[in-house]
Amino acid sequence: MDAHASHLHLRERDLMARWAGGRLADDVAGRARVELYLENACAQSCGFCDQPRQRDGLEGRVRQRLRGLVAWTTPDRARLDAFDALCAHVDAEASVGEFVLSGNDWALHPLRDGFFARLATLRRAPLTLYGPSTGLADPALRARALALPTLRRVQLSLHASDPAAHDAIVGAPGAGRAVLTALEALRTIPIEVVVNVALSARAVAALPATLAWLRARGLTATLLAVLPDRRRAGWSGALFPRARDVCAALAESDGEAVNAIHGAPPCAVPPGLRGRLSHVWESPHREPLAYAAGCARCVARPRCPGVPASQLRAHGEAAVTPIDG
Ligand code: SF4
Repeated sequence: MDAHASHLHLRERDLMARWAGGRLADDVAGRARVELYLENACAQSCGFCDQPRQRDGLEGRVRQRLRGLVAWTTPDRARLDAFDALCAHVDAEASVGEFVLSGNDWALHPLRDGFFARLATLRRAPLTLYGPSTGLADPALRARALALPTLRRVQLSLHASDPAAHDAIVGAPGAGRAVLTALEALRTIPIEVVVNVALSARAVAALPATLAWLRARGLTATLLAVLPDRRRAGWSGALFPRARDVCAALAESDGEAVNAIHGAPPCAVPPGLRGRLSHVWESPHREPLAYAAGCARCVARPRCPGVPASQLRAHGEAAVTPIDG
């Protein structure tokens, strides 16, 4: 089984369908990683996320209505029973080395407390909480999360250590201060903390300061290239940094603060950090990657997946920096 096949990514609606169809145990069997993505609406409007577009456009509003209708007509009891069944299968399946709870902002999920009660019954499956990035600033919610018996890792998103810059990137006043508060509290606790930084142009401009802030607190960052979905409308060219800007920001930073870089081309990364690069899986939902004309003379071309077409449209040939032999 390849790495992709060994990962099961379930949206909440998939969970209900598979549970109702009696397929959940088979779906979990043999998986190394199981992720449940909770689909409640989020309060942020990150420029690099497709959710705000789905939420704000006509199609998105209709979909949200339908989802709300399905949730409304599906008893909470059934939704919790499906979650309960997932927890039981994941805990019993020895192959599962990571159980991830993620979502736009699942601290706002109406069944959050029920989910917590069931997560507290896990006995084996190592648990990762992906966020809630701002919610964990709340001492009561944080204490509840940290008390979960199999919690191994917490993953938060910080796009700039300057709270105002982070707020501007995620479109939510106060979000930056909340994430910094959560990180300050979590770093004193013996638990793995992973900090994600999405490499939008604004985040790249703030990257040296952000990495210095994390390094000073013994934390490291996972850097994620901005990879748009296939809906072109609404993706601003201003979102995408040029490869040379990412490279310059990283060259100016303490490389020890970077643990991994996902989805960026080699030309966006200084030579000393290229060993931390990894590709992302191809997805039918994601915009295809492409090459600039200049990529033909780049020595990294054979091992480079390319860059989003939106990035090329935004910057033309300047989007990339061919590497000389
Ligand atoms: S092939 Fe193109 S995108 Fe990839 S590293 Fe070289 S210049 Fe950059």
